[in-house]
Amino acid sequence: MLLTITNRHKPATDLSFLLHKHPAKIQSVELSNGKAHVFYERADDEECTAVLLLDIDPVGLVRNDGPKGNDFALEQYVNDRPYVASSFMSAAIAKAFSTALNGRCKDKPELVDRPFSLEVKLAVLPVKGGEDFLRKLFEPLGYTLNVTTHLLDPAFPDWGQSRYYTLILKNEITVQQLLSHLYVLIPVCDNDKHYWVTEHEVEKLLEKGKDWLDTHPEKKTIVRRYLKHQRSLANKALEVLVSKNEEDTELLDADFDAGLDAGPADEAEKVIRIHDQRLIAAKDVLLHAGCKRVVDLGCGEGRLMKLLLAERAFDYVLGMDISYRSLEIAKERLKLERFSEKQLSRVRLIQGSLTYRDKRIEGFDGATLVEVIEHLDQPRLTALERTVFEFAKPATVVITTPNAEYNIRFPDYKEGKMRHSDHRFEWTRKEFESWASAIASKYSYDVSFSPVGEVDVEVGALSQMAVFKLKTEKEEFLS
Ligand code: SAH
Repeated sequence: MLLTITNRHKPATDLSFLLHKHPAKIQSVELSNGKAHVFYERADDEECTAVLLLDIDPVGLVRNDGPKGNDFALEQYVNDRPYVASSFMSAAIAKAFSTALNGRCKDKPELVDRPFSLEVKLAVLPVKGGEDFLRKLFEPLGYTLNVTTHLLDPAFPDWGQSRYYTLILKNEITVQQLLSHLYVLIPVCDNDKHYWVTEHEVEKLLEKGKDWLDTHPEKKTIVRRYLKHQRSLANKALEVLVSKNEEDTELLDADFDAGLDAGPADEAEKVIRIHDQRLIAAKDVLLHAGCKRVVDLGCGEGRLMKLLLAERAFDYVLGMDISYRSLEIAKERLKLERFSEKQLSRVRLIQGSLTYRDKRIEGFDGATLVEVIEHLDQPRLTALERTVFEFAKPATVVITTPNAEYNIRFPDYKEGKMRHSDHRFEWTRKEFESWASAIASKYSYDVSFSPVGEVDVEVGALSQMAVFKLKTEKEEFLS
């Protein structure tokens, strides 16, 4: 069985640095029941195709207490394991491409977070659930699929299709993400595993699925199949994933609005909640900039989109979020089902990640990221910066994030405690300003900062906003 990975993003041989395998050599690694060989079909500036070939020893499988069927005595010798992509392929990926899978690249560390236009071919992949299931697994992660089915036996077409597929996947994605998707999803397709699963597998699954599994619409099936339907282990994994996701959707109200709402009721009514202030501030920037086509990145449950759609000045409003669940809530909140066809042509919700280049968010004149950046691990911000400022490149970008200095004003303040458990960091005004200014100079934007919320003379406001304006060619020339 074969897995090929192709990069056509020049210089294409960047792929070989990431995979940490020399293009001119054949390299082999030992697996528990055979070997995996890595070599290149082509490796030049234009195209680089790495091949992972598995050579599984069927007799060794039996000796090492491999798959034992109950159906007939020969099953342990006559089975598809040596010829298909299964959990052996995941084991081979983990062993042969361990540095890439763990997001390391000694020689060119800047490549780790770079999305490439990658194409993967898997031949052959057994799939319980057919093409529909394959699409449900890969499409939410942004892949386009080309699926070829195979007859059970070409000599007897009446027997129908087999459960084996040749699959070609394409995506703009980092190599680490690609490998972690394959690592988890190949055995999920197959619905079998060559070893007994233990607690350790739960950790592996959560680790490999860190950035994507909690928001995947098929999360439950993935977890159950990956853990070989062992209910106690699956529940353990799902508990972690569900709680993570719930925090994501609750976070807005937990965002210490309470501090403002705490006054007497009539006074509180006069105060616009801090989160609404952020949304209104972002909308006003887009209006003043004369934006027509706007995209709300990390739109969450669609609060800002609702405000934007109420403004006729905006011709088209796109919302993107990584969380499927939030998008479903957004759909309800916006009451899209009541929209006429004409109204619907003005709005769209898409699932996607800000850490990958995405053509669907290109061609907009305004973009907002309201309380989003602090939800990404800091090393992933470089990928976000490129997605937004290098590729999508809207003329106006609004970013808001908490002002960490304000935290000492909270009654239950503790040093180092963040406002929400899903926040990966919270920045002081200085930290935010230096991050944003570096981006502005790197990608030819001007940037200005303003507080959001009532300003405390010592620590500033609750939230902070940066407004980026793409420089015109003339401005760039003069600067
Ligand atoms: N902007 C919204 C929601 C903010 S909460 C509002 O102000 O109302 C942060 C949102 O960022 C969550 O909905 C979360 O799912 C989303 N998010 C986190 N990481 C993301 C990523 N890598 N790509 C896209 N969205 C992401």
